[in-house]
Amino acid sequence: MALRIENLTVRYDDFNALDNVTHSFEPGTSTAVMGVNGSGKTTLLESIAGLINPASGQISGCCERLGYVCQCPPASWMPLTSNEVLAMGRYRERGLIGPLRANDRAVMRSASERLHINDLLSHSFGELSGGQQQRVRIAQVLASEPELLLLDEPITGLDIPSQERILAMIEDYSRRGATVILTTHHLDEARHCDCVMLLANRLIGAGSPQEMLTEERLREAFGERVLGDHQDHEHDHDLIVLDDHGHHGPQAHDHLEAGPTRGFRRFQRGQH
Ligand code: ADP
Repeated sequence: MALRIENLTVRYDDFNALDNVTHSFEPGTSTAVMGVNGSGKTTLLESIAGLINPASGQISGCCERLGYVCQCPPASWMPLTSNEVLAMGRYRERGLIGPLRANDRAVMRSASERLHINDLLSHSFGELSGGQQQRVRIAQVLASEPELLLLDEPITGLDIPSQERILAMIEDYSRRGATVILTTHHLDEARHCDCVMLLANRLIGAGSPQEMLTEERLREAFGERVLGDHQDHEHDHDLIVLDDHGHHGPQAHDHLEAGPTRGFRRFQRGQH
């Protein structure tokens, strides 16, 4: 059953963080939610997760097996091994003190393999890098076997191998029937998804990456931050350049190459 959001309005004081948003998320698909900082992306995920009460509107088709990986700074204090953090993903099944059964271990192993964290399991969680911690946190949520997976900026600031592992997991997990919704500032991450949703505290548009990742649609969502229709003389293509100023610092740009037949792909990404 599709997750449906209907006329969703979320208000903070007299400001509508989300204004009358209507959209359906189909099972077996991944959706990238994009927009500038403050455009309501996290608010949308928190509303779906039931962490915020909307001022008006409805959310239906939200399954009980919901996993939410929120934005979280690296933790240096966590006095647990990565395996113990992963095992928390089974709390819903076995309770706080119930022993791990064979099935729990099999599910944990599968989540661990998806995120390539086998070598990290015996390590202290607090001593892992930010990217490694993020992979363990996502594996923990996968170990709860969610049918609806919400990821708030899952690859922001991570090294390229961690990004690639998480992107591969998102594609694979949605192919197996789950509904995956993620927020992102990365155009190439959005291109990997089945659907792109553009927000500016209201729904700018939703559709396939080919439909949504055009300069015109991105300009509606990002305004002057879309710097592009530049000509890349070396490769003889138009570029869409998304100035992600304020999110990763003034040097951070996503550069996209737009070919009329090939859609979009990342041309070059600023380091962050
Ligand atoms: P995004 O995830 O796109 O950066 P958010 O959903 O975090 O945006 O925020 C949307 C808007 O709602 C922003 O203007 C933000 O300042 C405001 N906002 C978010 N949370 C709160 C809160 N708890 N109280 C007041 N305003 C908030």
